[in-house]
Amino acid sequence: MPELAAKASQLLKWYDRHRRRLPWRALPGVTADPYAVWLSEIMLQQTTVTAVKPYYESFLARWPTVHALAAAPTEDVMTAWAGLGYYARARNLHACARVIAAEHAGRFPDTEAELLELPGIGPYTAAAIAAIAFDVPATVLDGNVERVMARLFAVTDPLPKSKETLRAWAATLTPKKRAGDYAQAVMDLGATVCTPTSPACVICPWSTACAARAQGIAETLPRKLKKVEPPQRYGVAFWMVRKDGAVLLRRRPSKGLLGGMVEVPSTPWRAEAWSPQEAHAEAPVKAQWRTLDGQVTHTFTHFRLSLQTCVADLTPAQAKAFDDVLWTPLTAMGEVGFPSVMRKVAEHAMKHIA
Ligand code: SF4
Repeated sequence: MPELAAKASQLLKWYDRHRRRLPWRALPGVTADPYAVWLSEIMLQQTTVTAVKPYYESFLARWPTVHALAAAPTEDVMTAWAGLGYYARARNLHACARVIAAEHAGRFPDTEAELLELPGIGPYTAAAIAAIAFDVPATVLDGNVERVMARLFAVTDPLPKSKETLRAWAATLTPKKRAGDYAQAVMDLGATVCTPTSPACVICPWSTACAARAQGIAETLPRKLKKVEPPQRYGVAFWMVRKDGAVLLRRRPSKGLLGGMVEVPSTPWRAEAWSPQEAHAEAPVKAQWRTLDGQVTHTFTHFRLSLQTCVADLTPAQAKAFDDVLWTPLTAMGEVGFPSVMRKVAEHAMKHIA
């Protein structure tokens, strides 16, 4: 329909003047590198542009090609990812690099269907790579695009129920030409103009076409069903110090939450708080445990965690009983590559026993 094509072209004109400069984004007229697009899109899942930038730059400097990343030891990739969260993404990233190197001669496929077959690539990421790296007219629907579509077409049904309606609206606007620029343009509009609170409608290229603006309901959209509060879990971390000052750390099993990451050992994380007796019975060693004041708190996707920290000095005999662990001097804690929750535990312990 001509009015839909006109909307796409208005937005592309706006994009040509106001596009964000992002390290992974090709300059105007330059063909995007699929490896860079893929790497950035995986990192950006559930994470902000600001948080991703330094990780993206250091990954690309260290592993400039998909072959280089595929050849890296998994532990190096996990350590480089530490702090970015959602660690299954890092495991899938590495698995995907290996598949691309071994089965696709280092070249990313250019269709959504083939991209969806790869580890760690869901519908959003497949569409984003197909559009941005290969200019395929794929419909990209992330939180920014959902918000813009909900407002532009005044969709008042709440998310997640309205997702398919929003996808259908987004598909009607996706142009056949410059599909990659268009996908990035909608995302930029959502990130910089049609923001969650106080959208800047006066400078929006779609201001005259926007149904929510006309009805005065832009800020109330998209509506969302009330989120259920995540459950609370409790655990106790054990900070064990050897005579030379080194601390016992270990690597978590490769599958499951924080899989493959380095941790301070702890009790299981459960719905009830731990009494000191229960916690000490779960400790890796019988020792004179001291409980530190305060708690470490961390929010995961599906639950909140509150961790107490117990500290003990181990005798040489106790320390010797452990094998397959990482005895780590305090001076090297910064290079361990902790996931955020464990970095908090380490900082808490070091602050309280300094
Ligand atoms: S006019 Fe306002 S609400 Fe509508 S798309 Fe633009 S910024 Fe969003």
